[in-house]
Amino acid sequence: MGKIEKISAPRGMPDTLPSDMPLLRRIEETAHRVFRIYGYEEIRTPMFEETRLFVRGIGEATDIVEKEMYTFAAVTSARVQSQPGRTTVSLKTEFAEDAITLRPEGTAPVVRAVVEHELLKQQGFWKLYYVGPMFRKERPQAGRLRQFEQIGCEAVGSAEPVVDAESILLAARFFKEVGLPGVQVKINTIGCLNCRAAYRDVLRQLLAPRRGELCKDCQSRFDRNVFRVLDCRNPVCREIARAAPPMRAHLDADCRAHFNEVTALLTRAGLEFIIDDHLVRGFDYYTRTVFELSHSALGARDAVCGGGRYDNLVAELGGPPAGCVGFAVGVVPTVLALQKQNAAEALQPGADAYLIAVSDEVRTDIFRMAEKLRSEGIRIEMDYERRSLKAQMRSANKCRARYAIVVGPDELAAGRLKLKQMATGEEINLSLDEVAALLLK
Ligand SMILES: [Zn+2]
Ligand SMILES: [Zn+2]
Repeated sequence: MGKIEKISAPRGMPDTLPSDMPLLRRIEETAHRVFRIYGYEEIRTPMFEETRLFVRGIGEATDIVEKEMYTFAAVTSARVQSQPGRTTVSLKTEFAEDAITLRPEGTAPVVRAVVEHELLKQQGFWKLYYVGPMFRKERPQAGRLRQFEQIGCEAVGSAEPVVDAESILLAARFFKEVGLPGVQVKINTIGCLNCRAAYRDVLRQLLAPRRGELCKDCQSRFDRNVFRVLDCRNPVCREIARAAPPMRAHLDADCRAHFNEVTALLTRAGLEFIIDDHLVRGFDYYTRTVFELSHSALGARDAVCGGGRYDNLVAELGGPPAGCVGFAVGVVPTVLALQKQNAAEALQPGADAYLIAVSDEVRTDIFRMAEKLRSEGIRIEMDYERRSLKAQMRSANKCRARYAIVVGPDELAAGRLKLKQMATGEEINLSLDEVAALLLK
């Protein structure tokens, strides 16, 4: 038999190893705790949705829908070839009308669920949050992930500026509580659909004479979604966009009043933020307030959170008119930013006790004893490899056990066990019940 070929995780979809987990858990647990303080309830939607949800929800002329979705059609036949050490799978696919897509973001699925289950008939206003993986077919050379976790909040059913302000405060609060100082809050308004139509014309007129100088992406954005030119990272596009008048100068009275109220509320709440005229966000569904939280330790791609108001999405997906505002926290950049400021997570606590077998004949008793102690919630480690006393003591050290408990035939006969406190080396004799009481402390 030849050399066995190893199989790697798909590109851009890394494993999360135990050493990565403490920071990830801190982020998730902070989210559950802080979001609930603000009255948000958790919702879970499937990994897959019908493709048309994202086409309609996010918008056809967006990078995600055009290039980055994992879309699956019915597999009509699969041929699997297996030789020792090597397996190949070839699929013949036919596109079905009811194609499904791995969710690239969380907002459209949450709104789909609200509309499908008619939640707004039960109560007019919902605050919902989600935690889970999203999928985008990013270019692998850019080193970006194709499966990444997002944590998001969606307030559904209100057009009031106080909800925008609360949502931004919640996002900022999350980063404070997770222990990431130095997060900058940027906000802007992109107006309602009417304001945007007017501003679109202004922008096109302004950019038209220099259209040829824009980057390739922006040249095609010019027709499809001219606003995206404003947040292009290409230096030439940036220079050209700088000449554009701010969207704020083209707002109707309602949109202007809405934005003024949001900024006034944030100021009164003591939040530091800047107004960024070039912040537009990449999705079609945003209206009025948009915001982004960023961290300077991350370099060029510095966003850790993005969000905004989306007042038309519920209706576009078949629900009643309902204003919404929400945001998503990028878990990967948040982990990176925490790591950059050396937020070393305390090691997971070690075992409460390590049971050491003096001889093989007591191993069955040790096995039973471990089960009894574990049933009381005590973390027990033991040896599975019939190793020597010395090797077991080394393992007890390595797993950072608080106590090593030496068990031999004599100890079992007397019903008393010898405990060695690992930190001090101090030894005590206790009955099994006393051992349990001590370890539970
Ligand atoms: Zn407007
Ligand atoms: Zn550009």
